[in-house]
Amino acid sequence: MTPFDYSRAGDVAEALRLGGAAQAKFLGGGTNLVDLMRETIERPAALVDITRLPADITEREGGGLLIGAAVRNTALAEHPAVRRRYPMLSRAMLAGASAQIRNMATVGGNLLQRTRCTYFYDDAGSRCNKRNPRQGCDAIEGFNRNHAILGASESCVATHPSDMCVALTALDAVVHVEGHGGKRALPFGDFHRLPGDRPDLETVLQPGDLITAIELPAQPIAARSTYRKVRDRSSYAFALVSVAAAIELEDGRVKDVRLALGGVAHKPWRAVKAEQAMRGREATADAFRAAAEAELTDAVALRDNAFKIELAKRTITAVLGELAGDAR
Ligand SMILES: Cc1cc2nc3c(=O)[nH]c(=O)nc-3n(C[C@H](O)[C@H](O)[C@H](O)COP(=O)(O)OP(=O)(O)OC[C@H]3O[C@@H](n4cnc5c(N)ncnc54)[C@H](O)[C@@H]3O)c2cc1C
Ligand code: SF4
Repeated sequence: MTPFDYSRAGDVAEALRLGGAAQAKFLGGGTNLVDLMRETIERPAALVDITRLPADITEREGGGLLIGAAVRNTALAEHPAVRRRYPMLSRAMLAGASAQIRNMATVGGNLLQRTRCTYFYDDAGSRCNKRNPRQGCDAIEGFNRNHAILGASESCVATHPSDMCVALTALDAVVHVEGHGGKRALPFGDFHRLPGDRPDLETVLQPGDLITAIELPAQPIAARSTYRKVRDRSSYAFALVSVAAAIELEDGRVKDVRLALGGVAHKPWRAVKAEQAMRGREATADAFRAAAEAELTDAVALRDNAFKIELAKRTITAVLGELAGDAR
């Protein structure tokens, strides 16, 4: 591991001052960053520990929640208001990692965890545009069973690994950021980037920006919601495909719906086409399958991951069917 300085911030102002130094990085639970430092993929000159920053979950006027960036994943997943009002979020978080990792990992760090593409980790032996821009990408012609089927580019076909972020996308969460230019509130769908020709840029954050909180707007529809993760093992594995969904029916028809996918793209994927295809339709298996087909029309398979296209369609159809069945 490359030597680095360590300091602990007592408040946001101190975090911004310390984090503004060249090559500094914020340290949440360290469950991703420290691994990447051990592999020398990340080489920060200084770590600014932000785990002492506010870690509260507070009620917003109008029914939403404000979640401090230092809140641990376990605390958020187990919070009574989250379990009752946003069950898809609680289930997504409990589907991720292990209990020990969730006890350490923070909400802010979860948003910025990096891809699990094995070529990205193989600094010594593989070409990777995300590690070294314009070097090339060994995944495109290599073993790409876990890689993207939507929104990929000729530069990068990696997927975003977070479960939590799939639910946050479906819930229209807002990311609160503070940087040297002041405070910003970013809609979740705009926070992560598709790879384009700069896969090394994964979010719209600027150097030194601190995530201070995540806001969940009031989403009454989310009270009937769920998250299903399909993976190679029943625990401790990243998603091949995952689905976060919420549905509201009226007279047997879909009045409203929220749908997002994980494991399929460089960012958590909001399934806008499927949502549009469903609104106003009868809540039948055929309608759900048609919506899934609409969402996957632009999917592109690589050598090893064509199975993900059918898997995504079947998982969407099954999850919506289950939710609609519960609603009747
Ligand atoms: C074995 C293993 C299995 C896993 N399985 C899953 C899984 O199935 N699903 C899943 O979703 N995740 C999984 N994870 C990932 C885990 O959820 C992430 O490592 C964790 O969420 C990162 O949180 P952290 O607080 O530890 O981040 P850190 O490792 O501390 O930081 C990650 C990044 O975020 C930055 N950062 C942290 N906080 C802030 C902030 N407030 N503002 C700005 N930048 C910040 C850091 O500088 C760093 O770049 C797994 C991890 C491991 C090790
Ligand atoms: S898919 Fe992306 S992360 Fe993986 S090797 Fe290619 S450029 Fe790197």
